[in-house]
Amino acid sequence: MSNPGLTSGNVVALAGGVGGAKLAHGLAAHLGDRLSVIVNTGDDFEHLGLSICPDIDTVLYTLAGIANRAQGWGIEGESWSFLDQLGRLGGPDWFRLGDRDVALHVLRSLRLRAGEKLTAVNSGFARRLGIAATVLPMCDEPVRTVVATPDGELPFQDYFVRLRCEVPVTGFRFDGVERAGPSREVLAALRDPDLSAIVICPSNPFVSIDPILSVPGMRAELGRAPVVAVSPIIAGQAVKGPAAKMMRELDMPAIALAVARRYAGFATGFVIDHADAAQAQEIEALGMKVLATDALMRDEADRARLAGECLAFAEMLHHG
Ligand code: GDP
Repeated sequence: MSNPGLTSGNVVALAGGVGGAKLAHGLAAHLGDRLSVIVNTGDDFEHLGLSICPDIDTVLYTLAGIANRAQGWGIEGESWSFLDQLGRLGGPDWFRLGDRDVALHVLRSLRLRAGEKLTAVNSGFARRLGIAATVLPMCDEPVRTVVATPDGELPFQDYFVRLRCEVPVTGFRFDGVERAGPSREVLAALRDPDLSAIVICPSNPFVSIDPILSVPGMRAELGRAPVVAVSPIIAGQAVKGPAAKMMRELDMPAIALAVARRYAGFATGFVIDHADAAQAQEIEALGMKVLATDALMRDEADRARLAGECLAFAEMLHHG
């Protein structure tokens, strides 16, 4: 479905897991190897002695066409013998790891322990999985999202998976981020003279996009091309996950406008659903142009359509 006529040049997308991977998949259908995806690693954690990168893995599996769509994570058609046996032996089975999925975590852990950088390890996997796009961790240094709650802090996966986001949040911090920096590969993608657009995928603004933007020096690199952000909030609700719940708990309205406010100052375009068209004027007052469209990606055709609209919008912002 390549459509190179839609836009020239290369494109960088910033993404978390589910929402990010869906739009990245649509962008990849248009751009192939002209796409680089910078992925959140704040969700990464160590579990059973393994280094697990949930958002990178979701992006890899989605771009490779092997993701489990109903679940939003893991591989389609998985078997669960490893996890069943782990539970039987009294091991921690709250974080679900399918049999085929485990292979990636084992190999990544081995390679990281042998001294390879996360960026290099993941590009090796992308190549092996037949992915044309470049999939880049936001940085090579470990950064860990910590969730603040009224009862104290929680590591992100404890909050997200073990406690199913049920506890209220009061804030977030990204442990280790002050010691991190954009990798050579991330800088090369953002400083590419042929860069024609940066797309902020409809990922969770607090725990997927914020960690990426918090990497020291990252935000300053976003000025070389139109920045088009897609709202993860449609008609006051997150399509999936806790974004809207977090907004309410953080005392902000769970609406697209509140997401746009977080991206004001560097986003030049903001994509909302038709359902939220009434907010367009207030979003434009923040200094960005608005595109109202069908922002829900139900299937592969929707992913490619929305991605194509984002690219055309960026092109319009570039020339207009
Ligand atoms: P996570 O790291 O796995 O939570 O994934 P992301 O942060 O990348 O994605 C979560 C966000 O994706 C949620 O806030 C959803 O509302 C959003 N999302 C998921 N599917 C869609 C969709 O089809 N359209 C839009 N606009 N947002 C979506």
